[in-house]
Amino acid sequence: MAECVPCARTVLTYVALTDDGDQSRCCVHCDARVGAELRWVGADELQEDGYVIGSPAPRKSGGGCASGGCGTCGTRKH
Ligand SMILES: [Zn+2]
Repeated sequence: MAECVPCARTVLTYVALTDDGDQSRCCVHCDARVGAELRWVGADELQEDGYVIGSPAPRKSGGGCASGGCGTCGTRKH
């Protein structure tokens, strides 16, 4: 993770290739290049920042696929 100036927050980053063939880190939200200070965090800390790891299902309480077992959303929970 790194600090994104346009987003004014700490964001997830991805590696992108520049026109020169160099690698640069970009913000997953606004695609801006982010600066030097990369911070590697675990899944728990990512979730504290609002990222959901490993499950595409929205965090809702009660109901939904989690209890019914639609075969798509529930597979990772076992
Ligand atoms: Zn950003």
